[in-house]
Amino acid sequence: MNPKIAILGGGYAGMAAAVELAAAGAAVTVFEAGKVLGGRARKVVLDGREVDNGQHLVIGAYGELLRLMRLAGVDPVAAYLRQALELVVEPGFRLACPNLPAPLHLAAGLLGARGLGMAARWQLIRAIRSAQTAGWVLATDCTVADWLAQQHQSRNLVARFWQPLTVAALNTPLEKASAQVLLNVLRDSLGGARSASDLLFPKVDFSALFPEAAAGFVLARGGEVRLGAMVKSLRRTESGWAVGEGDERYDAVICALPPHRAGMVLRDLPRLMVLAQQLEHWEYQPIVTVYLQYDPAVRLPRPMTGLADSPAQWVFDRHYSHATPGLIAVVISAEGEHTHWSREVLIAAVERELHLRLQLPAQAQWRGMIAEKRATFACVPGMQRPINKTAEPGLWLAGDYTAGKHYDYPATLEGAVRSGVAAARELMGSELWESIR
Ligand SMILES: Cc1cc2nc3c(=O)[nH]c(=O)nc-3n(C[C@H](O)[C@H](O)[C@H](O)COP(=O)(O)OP(=O)(O)OC[C@H]3O[C@@H](n4cnc5c(N)ncnc54)[C@H](O)[C@@H]3O)c2cc1C
Repeated sequence: MNPKIAILGGGYAGMAAAVELAAAGAAVTVFEAGKVLGGRARKVVLDGREVDNGQHLVIGAYGELLRLMRLAGVDPVAAYLRQALELVVEPGFRLACPNLPAPLHLAAGLLGARGLGMAARWQLIRAIRSAQTAGWVLATDCTVADWLAQQHQSRNLVARFWQPLTVAALNTPLEKASAQVLLNVLRDSLGGARSASDLLFPKVDFSALFPEAAAGFVLARGGEVRLGAMVKSLRRTESGWAVGEGDERYDAVICALPPHRAGMVLRDLPRLMVLAQQLEHWEYQPIVTVYLQYDPAVRLPRPMTGLADSPAQWVFDRHYSHATPGLIAVVISAEGEHTHWSREVLIAAVERELHLRLQLPAQAQWRGMIAEKRATFACVPGMQRPINKTAEPGLWLAGDYTAGKHYDYPATLEGAVRSGVAAARELMGSELWESIR
């Protein structure tokens, strides 16, 4: 007997769970409300141009994502432009880790950081060293702003290094962001092997990078992937789980919906009412991506450049990764003043910044913008994140917002994938799995 498993949501978490279960012989059915797979990391078409719903960055530490891509038949060497860490934040800051064995690469990188005076460089080294010595664990979680104050980091150092790094990694303003989760990211990137901090720029869109290949893997093993399949409810019946009003019954369910949607679908299950309420009121942070098409001859000196104290926080030249000359993606993470600006005002401000600070032409030939209001969960201190297992036998949660023994990340692709794998493995380790095989 092949266990019949329903997976709700075809984002990175759902598709990771689907691949893991299909590989173990389960009959998997994925229900995805959208027309494309990938969820918050998916292909979109803007004025006839194929882009992503947001420019994402992957790092070498994303080991589970890379493993599952290989399993689904995607070669990460071909799928990414891979570069050793180089963080350039204008004006003038540059941190690059040379090709030395860990932790020498980090020590050399910090010592050689440009754009900081000697005092700031030592402040930075001391802060990272003290976190490393404490095993990257804080006695009590606090905001990044408070932790930086405790570490006596200067204003200049915060503006050029900590601010762009924290907002990019946690998508939460420094005054609200969890210092512990930031340290978790540093532990596995800067604090890991040299290759863990490599920057991986996908060469294909985010639906093709993993979810579509994962769907192919599932279909080849007799599973199903239903697009445009919005799940409104979930019921437990005597013969198994019922998804919506459908007649099929499933032995188990992995709910890989974003938290507010999961809350709506789970709210009628008596054992999960409190959890469902918590999920329905989950706090999010936005991300805006502005795409600007310039003349194809326009080029930035590297794939990614940060701008300190600017609404245009990180600027990506997609020529390097996607072979689309002149197409620039600008990422504006987290809430801020810009949240209240109109689309036109924000695009104009970004265009002006690129002109004044990166010497790009004053006017782009084409402009597009995607605002994701619920891009990631607000990554605040002391968050109560649910685990995969729920109080309902046969029902597990997966998604970037969950946390478990093997993952404690902010909202990331790696966090989503690890969560999907963890949910699938818990299911496969359960008595239920034994009883249905
Ligand atoms: C603009 C942007 C930039 C980002 N940048 C980065 C980055 O640089 N690096 C990084 O690692 N992470 C980044 N992230 C975060 C990352 O994309 C997410 O953490 C990750 O994709 C979450 O995956 P998930 O599977 O947990 O959730 P989701 O992607 O939200 O997947 C849930 C799926 O469920 C579907 N769904 C919802 N409701 C229903 C329903 N009722 N029935 C059926 N299906 C439903 C959705 O359509 C979706 O496909 C970014 C996110 C955004 C939005």
